[in-house]
Amino acid sequence: MNIQEKDSQYVAHTYARFPLELVKGEGSLVWDHEGNEYIDLGSGIAVSALGSCDAGWIQAVEHQLHQIQHTSNLFYTAPQADLAEQLCLRTGMKKVFFGNSGAEANECAIKVARKYAAEKKGTDCYTIITLENSFHGRTLATLAATGQEVFHQDFLPLMEGFAYAPANDLAAVEALCKEKKIAAIMVELVQGEGGVVPLTAEFCQGLQKIADEQDILLICDEVQTGNGRTGELYAYMNFGLHPDLVTTAKGLGGGLPIGACLMGVRVESVLDYGSHGSTFGGNPIAAAGALYVLSQINEALLQEVKEKSAYLIDRFSKAEGIKSVSGMGLMLGLETERPAADVIADCRANGVLVLKAKDKVRLLPPLNIPMELLEKAADVICNAVKEN
Ligand SMILES: *Cc1c(COP(=O)(O)O)cnc(C)c1O
Repeated sequence: MNIQEKDSQYVAHTYARFPLELVKGEGSLVWDHEGNEYIDLGSGIAVSALGSCDAGWIQAVEHQLHQIQHTSNLFYTAPQADLAEQLCLRTGMKKVFFGNSGAEANECAIKVARKYAAEKKGTDCYTIITLENSFHGRTLATLAATGQEVFHQDFLPLMEGFAYAPANDLAAVEALCKEKKIAAIMVELVQGEGGVVPLTAEFCQGLQKIADEQDILLICDEVQTGNGRTGELYAYMNFGLHPDLVTTAKGLGGGLPIGACLMGVRVESVLDYGSHGSTFGGNPIAAAGALYVLSQINEALLQEVKEKSAYLIDRFSKAEGIKSVSGMGLMLGLETERPAADVIADCRANGVLVLKAKDKVRLLPPLNIPMELLEKAADVICNAVKEN
């Protein structure tokens, strides 16, 4: 049996995988089992922020591997404390809870919002407003938070306590705030799985105003947008927001599983002893890798992200066969005249890996991709989108 056959015999059929077995990666290049080389514009869904097998990241992870690989959260470890400190210093947030994934980071934010509202406004105040077309994860709570029916079907009844509003419709959010007791508003500033659609600045600032005036918590789900992806360390920084809770995961660990829920001044003391926990959360190896990733997301790299983004947007806006370009930073969606799946397959046949989001071609290259590789990949994409 080859690997693809073995996988389909023994691994649950939850993924429509590309017909490719990846065996090696270096920077923004990856290789399949037949030795074919690809420019990777997917980064394992925005996870490998520094590309594959970054030398500094390996060194940080390897160093920790030889110290201790796991302690549980019954003990202190330096990587976890150092990482929490860095996250707080660079955001102004006050406390961090670590899990192992985006969904877990969001679960934590949902628990904080419920506990804050229950203690401050009564146990009947628990509803969290989320947006239509959002994606917040696959656990039962984050599934309920996700404003897309396709993810809900077959898993009913949904967990109670979520209300959905159309994106960029402030009047709809205001109406829900009058109709129900609202604990929090939770948004992705760029809806990733929903098709790489940024919210408008006006809508975001309106949400902030509602949150401030009505003592409603603002939660930014930065699982995908975080850690430099949009050209700022966190996407909320592009919009001048001051969220109470910021969740992140994907790019933070540079390839190892870690999730974080950052808590601002309004909620920093909501979680107390015994109210939440995770056996693996903030694992020292994942945390050591994340510390290194954060150290590399400096002003120079963020500037690079913005420049590469401007280059891609300019090229794709002019390209024949591309109807529109959406997104921010190195998180871009292309609406193409040909079906996205065909474009993606053609790109792959020509040595470039790109992803899909809804009916768009989605690009999530490593933040540090060399300009020459990005140009080469853009050439391939511009060819693939043309009717042929
Ligand atoms: C990927 C994603 C999640 C879920 O993260 P997992 O690590 O798969 O649990 C949640 N929210 C957003 C915005 C995401 O992009």
